Amino acid sequence: MKSLRIGVPSKGRLAETAEKLLQEAGLHFRRQPRSLFARCREMPIEVTFLRTDDIPVLCAEGAIDMGISGGDLVEESQVDVTERLALGMGNCSLSLCVPEDSPIQHARDLAGCRVATSFPRVTRAYLKEHQTDVHLVNLSGSVEIMISLGVADAIVDLVETGSTLAANKLRVLEQIGSYETVLIQNPNCEQLALADRVARRLEGVVIARGYSLLEYNVPVERLKEAEEVTPGYNSPTVNSLEDPHWKAVRVMVKRGEVIAIMEKLEALGASAILETPIRNCRL
Ligand code: AMP
Repeated sequence: MKSLRIGVPSKGRLAETAEKLLQEAGLHFRRQPRSLFARCREMPIEVTFLRTDDIPVLCAEGAIDMGISGGDLVEESQVDVTERLALGMGNCSLSLCVPEDSPIQHARDLAGCRVATSFPRVTRAYLKEHQTDVHLVNLSGSVEIMISLGVADAIVDLVETGSTLAANKLRVLEQIGSYETVLIQNPNCEQLALADRVARRLEGVVIARGYSLLEYNVPVERLKEAEEVTPGYNSPTVNSLEDPHWKAVRVMVKRGEVIAIMEKLEALGASAILETPIRNCRL
């Protein structure tokens, strides 16, 4: 059986998280120092370690069948790949930014200005949409310092927490796009069954990371209200207790909402409210 080739970032902020995700999805491999390849133990899968920004192009060209990269890099590369799955990590926005004290209010006010970015295609398309003609300064990194270096009047850069912008006294003028890490696939991939298996495995871990399992007991007469607070991924499991006045509920809840939901359930009279993390799932 021919192997499925998956491209994984070799270094940078995505390398460790992508590798952890694959391992948690049961795709076990050992990366030898300096080696660009690794074989998965259980399945005919070959992992290739590549630069994150080359992965979309190499996937489109067929050097790899699948790859993990940033949605921003996929869009900027403008290549023909299929986005199989959003991986729920690396969330960021691509933003047009100006100095905090700049009088500029809209993208169109930048006509004739210099804009530094490492996303020239997305930036050009966005500014064209806003009928704004600028001089693009195309760089591969450190874009955030280009205004203070006197090279640009505005920048287009990725923003995650906003601390880089704050440190450089910049503010977001307009958000161009929002992105996260994605699993991509070559549209002509021949190992479709294997590619589907990989995508399903990763999906199981990605969904599990976003949810917790909540269990609680609730008085029968408050069950309907409790179900409205916790409708679940599909629907909650409701069991009887020895005490006929109570019901036991098991339900998936978005991880970021667990504490607020626990408070609401408690206010409804629920008790024995327990949160359990979910490691993996198939829904
Ligand atoms: P922050 O200070 O958290 O807003 O992060 C901004 C800095 O991190 C910028 O230099 C970005 O280029 C970089 N950055 C943020 N998010 C990402 C991402 N998802 N992928 C690659 N670089 C990012």
